[in-house]
Amino acid sequence: MIVLGLETSCDETAAALVDGDRNILAEVVLSQFEEHRPYGGVVPEIAARGHLDHIDRLTAEVMKRARLPFDAIDGVAATTGPGLIGGVIVGVMTAKAIAAVHRKPFLAVNHLEGHALTARLTDDVAFPYLLLLVSGGHCQILAVEGVGRYRRLGTTIDDAAGEAFDKVAKMLGLGYPGGPAVQAAAEAGDPARFPFPRPMKGRPGCDFSFSGLKTSVRQMVEKLPPGPLAEQDKADLAAGFQAAVVESIADRVKRALREFRGSAFVVAGGVAANSALRARLTALSAEAGLPFIAPPLRLCTDNAAMIAWAGLEHLRLGRTDPLDTRPRPRWPLDPDAPKSRGAGA
Ligand code: ATP
Ligand code: FE
Ligand code: MG
Repeated sequence: MIVLGLETSCDETAAALVDGDRNILAEVVLSQFEEHRPYGGVVPEIAARGHLDHIDRLTAEVMKRARLPFDAIDGVAATTGPGLIGGVIVGVMTAKAIAAVHRKPFLAVNHLEGHALTARLTDDVAFPYLLLLVSGGHCQILAVEGVGRYRRLGTTIDDAAGEAFDKVAKMLGLGYPGGPAVQAAAEAGDPARFPFPRPMKGRPGCDFSFSGLKTSVRQMVEKLPPGPLAEQDKADLAAGFQAAVVESIADRVKRALREFRGSAFVVAGGVAANSALRARLTALSAEAGLPFIAPPLRLCTDNAAMIAWAGLEHLRLGRTDPLDTRPRPRWPLDPDAPKSRGAGA
């Protein structure tokens, strides 16, 4: 079984082919960092145009690299939400067109489900498992009970973890995208110099909060002498902030591990690329006696292999979607999620 997947929900245009034996037959990811860098963040209209400019070529490229005709595939998956609507429409329309022309099933994939199931593509993980999803737009702990069965144990009550990294990077003048820049700056920093709070630490439940921490970084910056920040100040602020995020997440995960024990502890989403966080989570899993599964970095950030794989998991269960399926810019993974903020969309 082979599925073609397309990802266009944010600022990566991506296409990939995976098979039922967990092989990635071909994949390409085109990041639009340069287009958005002057604005310090993703501009939805620029992103949508970028996807439109590249998606056909990237799709043809993966078919060529895998040396497969469209007839050889069994289904076409596309991120159908949540995400920036203009981009989502581009991916969904492209996938539907290929599906219609070649008479293949269309598979509407939730982007978060793509992140959530990546571990089953990279490792032989059985349901159920505990998942920490930490990305630019989301910060949640989920019990993954099966394909399409996700129970949310905690979520952020304000900013996502990646969003906090990106905003702090901007404050410190470290540029965009922020996560890798903060991590790099933190390497030369003293995490103990600035006493940042550990948001939510010790509180009941597994929810997250990063907005107060972000504010306290701003307040520390304002207390320093005016003018451009010294390199050491930047490094110490970055290190202090990163340590606070890691400790806050670790506290939440510890509680979740007490509440729910699956076959493994899995981390996904772009912030999972953070090496300090990975080290802490590795230690936590070991303490809990659970295997720790973190996909390789390129499969933690947005990519199409995870979308193709989630589509394949649906297809194997006979779950396909009609060609009139609508894009869903807001689409929580957990059916019980509240419709307001933090709804996973
Ligand atoms: P979502 O998947 O929620 O729609 P997204 O597409 O922005 O959001 P990803 O591509 O999964 O999310 O991840 C991007 C985020 O990960 C950004 O916020 C980025 O700053 C963060 N990130 C990437 N690398 C690191 C790192 N090394 N340390 C911390 N954060 C990182
Ligand atoms: Fe993502
Ligand atoms: Mg992204």
